[in-house]
Order: sequence, then C-alpha cells, then structure tokens
Amino acid sequence: MSVTISSELLRRLVAEAAASPNAEVCGLLFEATGRIDAAEACANVAANPERMFEIDPAALFVAHRRARSGGMAVIGHYHSHPSGLPVPSPRDAAQAMGDGAVWVILGADVARAWRSVEVGAFVEEAIEQITPSA
Ligand SMILES: [Zn+2]
Repeated sequence: MSVTISSELLRRLVAEAAASPNAEVCGLLFEATGRIDAAEACANVAANPERMFEIDPAALFVAHRRARSGGMAVIGHYHSHPSGLPVPSPRDAAQAMGDGAVWVILGADVARAWRSVEVGAFVEEAIEQITPSA
C-alpha cells in the first residue's frame, strides 16, 4: 500500500523537522480527497521533547471535533527523529494502536510513512509524491 502526498507538502514537513535539531516536531495529517491533503503543526507537549513527542491533546480534540462537523478527516500524524532515522522507535511502537493511522516519520532529511495495522506494530507504506497541476 501507499500514501499519497503533494511534493510541496512533503518538502514542508521535511523542512520543519530540519529546523528543529533539538526537539521532535509533531503535527496532524488530514485527508479529504484520498491523500494527505493537509498537515497542521502541533505543540509537542512531551516532558522531554528532545527524545519523544506528544501531540497537544487540545489540538487533537479540536481536529476531531472539526472532522465530525464536516472538516477534513484526521488520518494520522507526523513527528521527527532529530538525531535518528525515520523508522518507528520502540516508544513509537508502544503507542501503535492498530487503528490504521498513518505515521509519517521525519529524520535524516527524509520522510517515511508507516501504518499501525496491529497493536505495537507498523507496516511501511510507500510515499507517492504528486505535483498538483497549476
Ligand atoms: Zn518516533
């Protein structure tokens, strides 16, 4: 399987991660047309954001409420590994709910996508980049 995202949006996420060398960045991913249509940076409220992330629960609440009232669906989230590779850490696996959520992980100036298909485990998804026509 794969996830589709515009090359411009993907570049934005990679740049956001690169601009934060000492703390993990994180945010939500939204879907409206069968692909990752939008991303929204959120505060990382983890106790030690240099090594972990926790999306601001208030932002998560607002996003889900917006989705229920006709807004874009929340299909997953992204976060960065400032000094690591973009593969799920053991801590990430511990948070994998098996809910089909898309996890985009940024590290070493690249992005990789994963999907939580069962509790504690991920499968990798190819990232298909598209260039929206003008
Ligand atoms: Zn991680």
